[in-house]
Amino acid sequence: MSDLVCPKCGKKSSEAEFIESFCSGCYPVKIKTPDRFELEQCTRCSKVHLRGDWAPYNARKLSDYIIGKCKGDFSSAGYDADRQVAVFIMMGNNAKIERLIPLDLKKTICLQCSRMSGGYFEAIIQLRGDPIKVLGHSGMLLKRLSKKKTFIAKEEEKDGGLDLYVGNSKVVVELMGELGLKTLITKKLVGRDQGKRLYRTTFLIRL
Ligand SMILES: [Zn+2]
Ligand SMILES: [Zn+2]
Repeated sequence: MSDLVCPKCGKKSSEAEFIESFCSGCYPVKIKTPDRFELEQCTRCSKVHLRGDWAPYNARKLSDYIIGKCKGDFSSAGYDADRQVAVFIMMGNNAKIERLIPLDLKKTICLQCSRMSGGYFEAIIQLRGDPIKVLGHSGMLLKRLSKKKTFIAKEEEKDGGLDLYVGNSKVVVELMGELGLKTLITKKLVGRDQGKRLYRTTFLIRL
């Protein structure tokens, strides 16, 4: 069998992989990919910034996001972050085409980590009453809060009870709703940040 010769670069089919009459590097396909992709990563918690959200690195989500920025006649595709290559399966002939999309990791600090290091917090959960119940509730609350998008700034024994300082107050409202816990809520204006009013909310729970 005689060799095929790529009409574009002159490579022979004995030297390179061929798709129809072209070598795989010259095979004419309509694919548009981003030149590169910049991904912000937090140096403290290693979360990455995707779709306006900070979340743990997830290869599948990153792939979906990058492929979403590619256009062309492909039926499926995936991004391989290790090789920094997007692999496309073309419509019609199922040819496999690869395109390099360099991934630039930009080291930064996410909002939560910067707030945490700055001693910022929006909510105080005050647990008061029976010491055994206070201990039990604080353990349960800390566990539930650790699964939400916030952080615990500090824990403090106070007035015979316990205060939990929490980064985000909306998350606390949400959790109280989920648990059906009765709380006495007080809101205090504590200052301004770039013109925005800053409130601190106290959630008093009697046990
Ligand atoms: Zn070629
Ligand atoms: Zn972080």
